[in-house]
Amino acid sequence: MPRSTTPAWNCHNDACPICTAPARDEMTLMRCAILTLLEQGRWMASDEIPLPEILSAGGKYLSRFTDDDVPAPAAEHWAWLEAELRLTVARAAGLDAVSALDPRIDRVLATAARRTWRRQIDLLDLAAEQFTELHTRPRTA
Ligand SMILES: [Zn+2]
Repeated sequence: MPRSTTPAWNCHNDACPICTAPARDEMTLMRCAILTLLEQGRWMASDEIPLPEILSAGGKYLSRFTDDDVPAPAAEHWAWLEAELRLTVARAAGLDAVSALDPRIDRVLATAARRTWRRQIDLLDLAAEQFTELHTRPRTA
């Protein structure tokens, strides 16, 4: 898991549940990046861009934005970001994976990629919802 010594990220978007959550830490940027990619993915899916493409090279994609409020993880974190994004979407597709290394993720995503683009948008929406819930609910001590 990437670590950084910079202050907790904040994209300054009032609608971002990750950056407006009370508990922000060094992982906030990565979480905000995943949520951003899921949102961008909806638009890509509606342009009928294939799911494997939507779920790959997310770090590079974010790095192209020049807006300071877009989370742009460092290149050394891109592989992690992509793996987590794929895990998040595979979970939304119903896989009970606990790790991005789960070998079943590829198959689940390949099946999901054969869905219509409308169902892929639903899948990305669900992934964003589950991801937000997972990372913003109060932590139990
Ligand atoms: Zn954010």
